[in-house]
Amino acid sequence: MDAVITTMTTPKNTSASLPKPNGITLSDIDPKKDGKFSPLLFRFLKRQSSQETFSQLWKDGDGIFYIGWFDDTNAFVGARLGVVISDPRAKTWCYEGMKLKLVKNFWRDYLRIGRCAIDPDHDIAFLGERWDTKKTVRTCLWCGHKQRLLVSYVRVRKEDWVNVA
Ligand SMILES: [Zn+2]
Repeated sequence: MDAVITTMTTPKNTSASLPKPNGITLSDIDPKKDGKFSPLLFRFLKRQSSQETFSQLWKDGDGIFYIGWFDDTNAFVGARLGVVISDPRAKTWCYEGMKLKLVKNFWRDYLRIGRCAIDPDHDIAFLGERWDTKKTVRTCLWCGHKQRLLVSYVRVRKEDWVNVA
């Protein structure tokens, strides 16, 4: 997004127009307690109490996820989820003019199935043990989702110029 105007670590905690708290308790999503929880999301929330208290998951028109909240000026205070879960130095930004749609029940789902709530298609190779593999079937340890191993053989035509003599 090009609308980044300033970094922001402390919310304007002055009025009654702060969003509703998200209801999560940080110790409930501690990755030390359960490997399904993201260590970097935990760290991000722990470092920024406004995110711990207010953040929700949002999605933009391109399907990009953001974690954060809207302040009383309708500016979005948060960060791209993809950055938060991959970069230990992820910062909170203040975005103006963001059009985001709330992802309902994200925290409820996250408490239940952890990082699978972020990656229901099981496409992301997260750090940490996610799969219990038995021959050609593997089961997600975090949510129970199953995948089977599809083996295919590929014939490839190859052309190379080689010296005649
Ligand atoms: Zn899963």
